[in-house]
Amino acid sequence: MSNKIFFTPGPTQLFYTYQDHFREAIKQDVGSISHRSKEFMRLFQETRENLHQLLELTDDHRIYFTGSANEIWERMVQNLVINRSHHFLNGDFAKKFYDFALQYQKSPSKTESPFGQAYESMDIPEDAELCGITLNETSNGFMFPAEDIYQIKNENPDCLMAIDGVSALPAIPIDFNYIDTAYFSVQKCFGMPAGLGVWIANKRCIEKAKQMETDGMVTGSYHSLTSFEKYGQKNQTPETPNALSIFILGKIAEDMLRRGVSHVRNETVYKSTILYQTAESVSILDPFIKEKKYRSKTVAVCNVQNGSDTVIEVCKKKGWVLGPGYSDQKQNQVRIANFPMHSKEQVEQLCDFLIREFK
Ligand SMILES: *Cc1c(COP(=O)(O)O)cnc(C)c1O
Repeated sequence: MSNKIFFTPGPTQLFYTYQDHFREAIKQDVGSISHRSKEFMRLFQETRENLHQLLELTDDHRIYFTGSANEIWERMVQNLVINRSHHFLNGDFAKKFYDFALQYQKSPSKTESPFGQAYESMDIPEDAELCGITLNETSNGFMFPAEDIYQIKNENPDCLMAIDGVSALPAIPIDFNYIDTAYFSVQKCFGMPAGLGVWIANKRCIEKAKQMETDGMVTGSYHSLTSFEKYGQKNQTPETPNALSIFILGKIAEDMLRRGVSHVRNETVYKSTILYQTAESVSILDPFIKEKKYRSKTVAVCNVQNGSDTVIEVCKKKGWVLGPGYSDQKQNQVRIANFPMHSKEQVEQLCDFLIREFK
């Protein structure tokens, strides 16, 4: 590994134990064993159990592995929506999920607010079968308050609550009693190379997919929720899976459990507090999200006076890689990831440096 520290919002800095687990995987022949073997089934089960505990899932939730979060958007539209999904749109990632539903002609509805600003209403259409919410909008740093999610679920108990937790889980707490389905990919908070998505779904979701198939709908030939569940019951996957990443994910989840998930979350809060304090005290930076309640704790997004290039270049000389703004904000903003592998000391050093350099 180089001496750089990646504060990019995914892919990002590898988890500090990644290399050790990688070596252990090679030693245990994880890249060569059959995905129908006892050894694989054991490692699959272990990863599932560790994630279950780490995320404090209910007995009703199951875990499946996909290629990415993008894949899960498509699978959710195929398996959980017959006529209509509803989407809270406040950034580019939420919009992509909405666009998937559009392409599948599910006549999705949406609640929009100017990107980065609060929603005016939490009402959703009565016929919405699934409600898509992005817990942490990585593109602009808007965080959807958990209490608002619980309120929507309480007011619409029949609607499947679907949470994009890609850049939030497990650093941001969420009560899975209110969540029917959620997903993340591993190149954000878990500090792994991209190429593995994790899909969490409860029994209601599985029942819905079954019913759709009974009614003659196509839920996916490569991956469907029912095929995931059928193989999942045997601790297997429909296809030859990314066993290496499934193994390492389980080990990193175990590392986080050993540290304590509340410790990981408290540190996240501490580091995000000093990041925003720094942004507010430095003349050229300005947090993009104005209301503190909605500020992401895992991705600090800041407007940069006179363009993002200077800050990015100056930090690069120190070996710190910051993320530019997303898409058309590339030149105007920086995004600084604050994930569990970014240590307190690293974030403090970055903040001290920014203050000294740009006071
Ligand atoms: C990164 C990201 C995605 C996309 O993840 P992929 O693994 O590239 O599919 C989706 N949603 C959010 C909030 C993200 O940050």
